[in-house]
Parts: sequence; C-alpha cells; structure tokens
Amino acid sequence: MMRIFLILCILFFSCTSNAPSTFKGEGRIKVLSTTAMIDDLVSQIGKDRIDHLVLITGEIDPHSYNLVKGDDEKLSQANVVFANGLNLEHGASLKYQLQHHSHVIFIGDEIGKKSPERMIVVGSVTDPHVWMDISLWAEGIDSIVSALAEVDPENRQFYHENAALLFEKMMAAHREVKDQLSEVPEDKRYLVTSHDAFNYFTRAYLGADWEQRCIAPEGLAPEGQISSVDIQRVVEYICKHHVEVIFPESNVSRDALKKITTACGRTIRMSKMALYGDAMGGVGSGADSYLKMIEHDARVLKEEWKK
Ligand SMILES: [Zn+2]
Repeated sequence: MMRIFLILCILFFSCTSNAPSTFKGEGRIKVLSTTAMIDDLVSQIGKDRIDHLVLITGEIDPHSYNLVKGDDEKLSQANVVFANGLNLEHGASLKYQLQHHSHVIFIGDEIGKKSPERMIVVGSVTDPHVWMDISLWAEGIDSIVSALAEVDPENRQFYHENAALLFEKMMAAHREVKDQLSEVPEDKRYLVTSHDAFNYFTRAYLGADWEQRCIAPEGLAPEGQISSVDIQRVVEYICKHHVEVIFPESNVSRDALKKITTACGRTIRMSKMALYGDAMGGVGSGADSYLKMIEHDARVLKEEWKK
C-alpha cells in the first residue's frame, strides 16, 4: 500500500511540474541541475543558448532523492551537471552518479570555498540550505558562468552579461525581502518550521540574533524519527518566545507540527499557507520560480506574524 502511495505521489508531483523531461537534442549544450532552485539560475544565465533540465522536479525531497527511470539517461547526456552539494543530495544512487560524472559543479561547495565565513555549521555538519539567503545563493552565479563558458566558450560573453543582470535582480530582491520582514516587530520574528531549512533565511532576514530566532522538530534533513524530546524542545521554545503561529513546509510531512497544537495552556495556530524550503512550488502556486519562492515565504511570514 505504501509503495503504491509513493508511486502516486511521484506521478502527481511530476505532473504538477512544467519542467521538460528530456533533452531536446538540438545541438545546444545540455545542462542538468539537480534542483529547481539551481535550474532557475542556470536558465536565466544560459537562456536560449542552452538545453536545460532539472532532475528533481515538483515538490520532492531532494535530501533523500534516488534515481528513477530515465534519470541515468539525463545524467549521461548532460555536458555539465549542477548540484547543490554540501551533502544535500545524499540518496545513494544519485550521490553515486554525481561522484562519478565527468563534469559536476557543486554550487553549495563552491559558495563555501568562496565565502567560508558565511557557511552555517550545525554541530559538525554544514547546513546545505544555502539558497534560502538570496545574497548567498547569488554567490553561486560565477560558478555557473565559468562552467557554461568552459563547455561553450563561444557564448562566454552572453553568459557573463546575463549573469550580471541576474546578480543585480537577486540583490534587489534580497534587499526587498529584508525590508519587508524588518516591518514585523522583533518580538514576533520567531520562526517555527518542520525541519531546519531556514537557518540561512533567518540569519539574512530576521535579525542579528538569528540563532535564537528559528527552530524545528526535524533536523537538517526531514528523514529521522521525531522523538518526544524534539517536540518538547520546540514546545519550550514556543512558550519562551510567546510564539502564536507555526509554519508547515510544502514538501514535508506535517505530522511533527501536528503534535504541537497546544503549548503552555495556549492553542498554537498552524499557518494555512505552507512555506517553501526544499522545493519551489508548481505552476500556479505563486512560488514557481526561485525568487518567487523566497518572496512567497516572506509574504506568508509577514502576514501571519501580523495577525
Ligand atoms: Zn531540507
């Protein structure tokens, strides 16, 4: 029964994505990205000069994604593959293919080499959710341009020009999100989500004391068993900071958050609108591009915190 459910889920999420599923084979360079957040940047830099695909389509968990039928072909056809790295893609079959492909760029690792001081380390593990801070994700643009220009030097100038425009657009969006959330009173800016996808977002947009401003029952990957200790930790946080609303994520089970319906004698509200953390939204969601995804999160947080 569970197996049928999972297959139906994959089919459903695949159908809600508007991403093409195969390379067109028109002579342009073939570029595969593991996540839609990477593919969005790649497509804006390469535009019509590249044939681009995303591997993990729809709202599927990238942490545990394993290859499905047709993925091997996409990987073998791609001239260059962009992955997040930082151990985000740790499903065994995908991880193996990424380690053995002839031309893979791990955007998160490249950002880490460029700006090690900006990486968030939880325990001894580097948080892979670097896309959740627009200004940090923009630091991955150079790696994309270099890789595209290496495979396709004729269009080097074209890629550089598009990248410069994209960088400006992203930095403007970054400032706008920061401004929007700065309008929420500081004593409301305490973010409770399903899993720890929002550390970079919180640091960028919710305040200097960001480490005190976000918490989740599930860790950096939403795969483990939730213990009563995890739930209790979040309940105590909610009481301490007078949190009134908690936020589900679009592609993570709400089971853990459903255990936190009351705390310190109060009812805790769950936002009707989910946040996008590990995946963009589908067509019509209002979050079907990378910047729209982050802007959606900021809008939902602002609206809910102001209630
Ligand atoms: Zn995650």
